[in-house]
Amino acid sequence: MSQSSTTRGGSAPMLGVLRPQIYRFKLGGFEVTQILDGFRVGPGPHPTFGQDQSAETVHNLLKANGLPVTNFDHHFVPTIVNTGKELILFDTGNGKGRIPSAGHLRDLVVTAGYTPQQVDVIAVTHGHPDHIGGLIHESKPAYPNARVVFGEVEFDFWKKGQVREARRQNLQLFQEIAIPFGERATFLKPGDEVVSGIRAVNAYGHSPGMLAFHVESGNQRLLIWGDVANHYVVSIQQPEWATAFDDVKDMAIASRKRILDMVATDKVAVAGFHMPFPSIGFVETSANGYRWVPASYQFNLS
Ligand SMILES: [Zn+2]
Repeated sequence: MSQSSTTRGGSAPMLGVLRPQIYRFKLGGFEVTQILDGFRVGPGPHPTFGQDQSAETVHNLLKANGLPVTNFDHHFVPTIVNTGKELILFDTGNGKGRIPSAGHLRDLVVTAGYTPQQVDVIAVTHGHPDHIGGLIHESKPAYPNARVVFGEVEFDFWKKGQVREARRQNLQLFQEIAIPFGERATFLKPGDEVVSGIRAVNAYGHSPGMLAFHVESGNQRLLIWGDVANHYVVSIQQPEWATAFDDVKDMAIASRKRILDMVATDKVAVAGFHMPFPSIGFVETSANGYRWVPASYQFNLS
């Protein structure tokens, strides 16, 4: 039979990268959902990461880990925990419009099976744009029934408004969209509970009052660490290297080392906002420091 205009070979279009956007698993009696608010491909990682190191030193580390040295893919991954009593959203992503390839959280909350109205609590790790940008949608609270929880130190820091030059725009955004939530918000110190089973952890430094959140149910533990480490190779294998994103660098490095040590020693699973999607993994000690080990199927079986 002759091949005519109905030729089949090679007719399917090239469709480009297709990324997974939602991952859900059980943690004891809780359900945890990871959602890809979006991503940004940018130049680097050096000098954003390893700011105090030579380009060559950082490039060598990247090459040793099979990564390119001229650009990198930065993921934004909020976490939802359903305790059975409350639906809690940890960070709100960028919000629509800031970055074309991000701001999808609210739509994906629906794809994941929830409604924005069902979110009972929003726990904010810190006040940077990719974490607070999605608090509002079309100038209204994006999750209208949610009680918002901020770190007390973090909220006070932004309220006072003494920020470094690189955070001036961020300050404007925080004052515009986060401060209004202050009137009906809850403010936590490290050690305080968000709800039963979820506790704030001191992660100060990346932002002066950043909190991580320790989640525990049925003897299973997860640390939602916010921006403790923002590149899965550079920040974890070399936690002492300076990062442009860190606002109080010495404090950020001390928190990073303390928390990496804690999750590695206690073998606590991590949900890392900027770790590669689905951003769930473990930290192992290695000869020179630590390394990120992505979860595979461990959590699919429970
Ligand atoms: Zn961030």
